[in-house]
Amino acid sequence: CGIIGILGNQDVSGRLLDGLRRLEYRGYDSAGICTIHDDQLDRRRAEGKLDNLARKLDGEPLPGIIGIAHTRWATHGAPTQDNAHPHATGEVALVHNGIIENFKPLRDELIAKGRTFTSQTDTEVVAHLISADVEAGMEPVEAVRTNLKRLHGAFALAILFRQHPDLLIGARLGSPLVVGYGENETYLGSDALALAPLTQKIAYLDEGDWVVITRAGTQIYDKDDQPVERPIVNSGVSS
Ligand code: GLU
Repeated sequence: CGIIGILGNQDVSGRLLDGLRRLEYRGYDSAGICTIHDDQLDRRRAEGKLDNLARKLDGEPLPGIIGIAHTRWATHGAPTQDNAHPHATGEVALVHNGIIENFKPLRDELIAKGRTFTSQTDTEVVAHLISADVEAGMEPVEAVRTNLKRLHGAFALAILFRQHPDLLIGARLGSPLVVGYGENETYLGSDALALAPLTQKIAYLDEGDWVVITRAGTQIYDKDDQPVERPIVNSGVSS
């Protein structure tokens, strides 16, 4: 299972797919990609091997210069297309590695508020939690900051917001996530290997860190929401 995200200056879907291929060694049962184009979150997802996803992308290309991608190793819900990530509402799309241990009470709470779920995953609650606050007018960064506190378990997350096509947010607790620094582009990945063709300049996030990536720059916050600097090192991994 693995994650890759790109805030780019040229089309990302081909490069996201390449990144997923570099994460195949971790194992997976399904995969998917989401980008933002024409003011919409747009996804392609497929069961099984990445070739299935690649065929879908050939038939229905996914433009966009910002995107997230995922290989899933199912923990909650069968390895179907509907359970494949990215999970999305109209406003928020995200990919997740790990397990949200308290997803059941969160799901019940969200259903009681009238929200509709389309998968059997633990992950989908995270998209709805953040989306509910964004739809209520909260800024994306604040919605992520608030809702991360509600998640118990393990996660690496990469999150997109429909109305903010220049914003990519990541977070990690118990699952790995790195930030990659490119030329006018910034990346998220499960490991430096996934990002090797894109950059060797890597910052390893600490437990509980989360990161806000914009065109203006990248800011990492620690588990207490304090801005922190994590060293940018040369990964030493070449493509
Ligand atoms: N628990 C999530 C799911 O089953 C994520 C699994 C993963 O780490 O790929 O969808």
